[in-house]
Amino acid sequence: MKKIQMVDLKGQYEGIKEEVETSINEVLESSAFINGPKVHEFQKELEDYLGVKHVIPCANGTDALQICMMGLGLQPGDEVITADFTFAATVEVIALLNLTPVLVDVEPDTFNIDVKAIEKAITPKTKAIVPVHLFGQCADMDAILELADKHNLYVIEDNAQAIGAVHTFKDGRKKKAGNLGHVASTSFFPSKNLGCYGDGGAIFTNDDDLAHIIRGMVNHGMYKRYHHDVIGVNSRLDSIQAAVLKAKLPKLDFYNSKRREAARKYSKALEGQDHIVLPKTVNGCEGICETCDCHVFHQYTVRILNGKRDELAQHLSENNVPCGVYYPIPLHRQKAYVDERYDEADFPITNQLVKEVISLPMHTELDDEQIQFITKLVIDFVNS
Ligand SMILES: *Cc1c(COP(=O)(O)O)cnc(C)c1O
Repeated sequence: MKKIQMVDLKGQYEGIKEEVETSINEVLESSAFINGPKVHEFQKELEDYLGVKHVIPCANGTDALQICMMGLGLQPGDEVITADFTFAATVEVIALLNLTPVLVDVEPDTFNIDVKAIEKAITPKTKAIVPVHLFGQCADMDAILELADKHNLYVIEDNAQAIGAVHTFKDGRKKKAGNLGHVASTSFFPSKNLGCYGDGGAIFTNDDDLAHIIRGMVNHGMYKRYHHDVIGVNSRLDSIQAAVLKAKLPKLDFYNSKRREAARKYSKALEGQDHIVLPKTVNGCEGICETCDCHVFHQYTVRILNGKRDELAQHLSENNVPCGVYYPIPLHRQKAYVDERYDEADFPITNQLVKEVISLPMHTELDDEQIQFITKLVIDFVNS
């Protein structure tokens, strides 16, 4: 059996070596390392793929989120609501801009932000909601957009984990994740569903004015050379990373289908176990549907109900099966973000999930033998 990895970037590279190397070599030959034609080409191709009017590439997913908030003109003291159960980058940029993060609980079956908790947290100072499409599937965007509309709030999608996922609205319209709110951010960190070979990120919007503001902001607030109209940042996607992404984008749907296939096999093998809660897809789909792209499984995350999550992680690792705990600490209890405003009673689900979740190896190169080996280890252990 091939060695099991959490993410198999080498295996994926083997399958796309030629395209990537040709694309990178074109950058080397052109020597246009910053803002070269590859960046522009990739930008256009991603706009077409997502069906969004503007893609603005930048240096990483964290910058992308920060720049979204800068572009919307959010001001110190403005409250921004986001999920307690996510990667820290989301709350980090809110705090960094002196905005006030308002963390709220999530839903137990999807791990995504709880709309009722958002509603409860809205005050006259609330300016934006940041739903994170966690682990590869969209938050409840119908309800979130409706709520935002009612209270006149911006919706900034953190789409670092769900690029390529398709959201079906209640009325049947379909749109890609990252094209649902006012503006969205994504990350091209190597292990993300569309990853480059270094750092990278992008911002998406259909708003022409906002896109214009943001294009200047990523480049020192410059709209005309050496005229600095606003305070910006230096956040660029370099041409070599764009070359990698341009080569990989045509494969994104295929990569996501491989992830879904692995997820289906995991769920089939693990179903019916008393102590394991399998990940659910929503969007009206039963189980892990075969026909739509509602979930692109950035992670395959189960809940272990018998209190043996940490022991299971240890057991897997002793058997050379890597796994991850995303995330072990609720953001409201992270030292940097503790705040007397928060009441433990408002986070029952997150407080529970951090003790129960475990993410199994998930990537495009998993084979049946590996999945069988992993699921057998899990089942034997939870029943022991
Ligand atoms: C990865 C990630 C980010 C940050 O992306 P970087 O490119 O690493 O800066 C932000 N939010 C979420 C939910 C992520 O998973």
